[in-house]
Amino acid sequence: MRCLITGGAGFIGSHLAEHLLGLGHEVVVLDDLSTGREENLAGLPGRERLRLVRGSVLDADAVEGCMAGVDAIYHLAAAVGVFTIMGRTLESLRTNLGGTETVLEAARRHGVPILVASTSEVYGKNTAIGLTEDADRIVGSPLLNRWSYAEAKALDETLAYLYGVEYGVRTVIVRLFNTVGPRQSGRYGMVVPRFVQQSLAGEPITVFGDGQQVRCFCHVLDVVPALVALLADEGAHGTVYNLGNPEQTSIGELAERVRAATGSRSPIVKVPYEEAYGPGFEDMERRVPDCTRAFERIGFRPTRSLDTILRSVIQEYR
Ligand code: NAD
Repeated sequence: MRCLITGGAGFIGSHLAEHLLGLGHEVVVLDDLSTGREENLAGLPGRERLRLVRGSVLDADAVEGCMAGVDAIYHLAAAVGVFTIMGRTLESLRTNLGGTETVLEAARRHGVPILVASTSEVYGKNTAIGLTEDADRIVGSPLLNRWSYAEAKALDETLAYLYGVEYGVRTVIVRLFNTVGPRQSGRYGMVVPRFVQQSLAGEPITVFGDGQQVRCFCHVLDVVPALVALLADEGAHGTVYNLGNPEQTSIGELAERVRAATGSRSPIVKVPYEEAYGPGFEDMERRVPDCTRAFERIGFRPTRSLDTILRSVIQEYR
């Protein structure tokens, strides 16, 4: 098979590329390298079967130029990270809305199945322990920059769903909860690599907010095979799947675990949200997935614990 991965030079995309190459497929990556890096793809086994095209998903011609012979599309390209969304809100909104529609159009024209990466952020402030795919969304004001990422991703889901219903495009939507592991950058607001870098450098570990907020971290290597299995399964098409690890950790506890695992003496410092992200920032207290649907469909069950995740990230930064 030949697979197109938009955003394939990024963190999750490069692991997906590695996995698909390992299965013997050809891979085309379309990436504008805004947050992704060519180095993420450089040493991959089977790299000779991968073609990197530098271009934007907003450019319909660039997308079209990648489509020859493509059998499956994984649409991962997006403006991501809270720093990116808060700092370049309008540009991010355009990428996350327009880019998805452009890629869906290509899937429709070529009759190719497509997986669209969405996010647990669409649940917003719903703090249910075990969010199911049918849970209500509780989001703040559309005038708060912070929610524009969730708004765009929710509309992406609706678009993907309607391309399935009205045009017969074979679509799968995945809502990724915090996905972590090697190659993730800490520059755009992702908490695990940021804490690891601060801790290894002996700098203060900066916890934004009171540190009580609860998150669940899933190793990227648990997520990637599920993306492939879902898109390959015709019975999985036409709906949305949560993908995440239900192990809960508060951000304060995460900071302590990172410090202990690195043997660092960094102080742990709390920084108010306003100072970290600017005025009007709202966060979710808790975000915990229920992945029963993905388990029943493809047997999805994450096996890597937070300790394993932290070891792999620390090893990379060391
Ligand atoms: P990432 O920043 O490493 O990957 C995103 C990639 O998209 C980057 O390589 C970037 O250069 C590329 N990109 C951005 N704008 C583009 C454009 N206009 N045209 C082409 N390429 C463009 O982040 P990631 O964590 O690997 O995220 C991948 C996908 O997973 C995204 O859709 C993201 O919303 C989703 N997601 C990730 C997480 C997570 O915890 N990592 C959680 C929920 C959802």
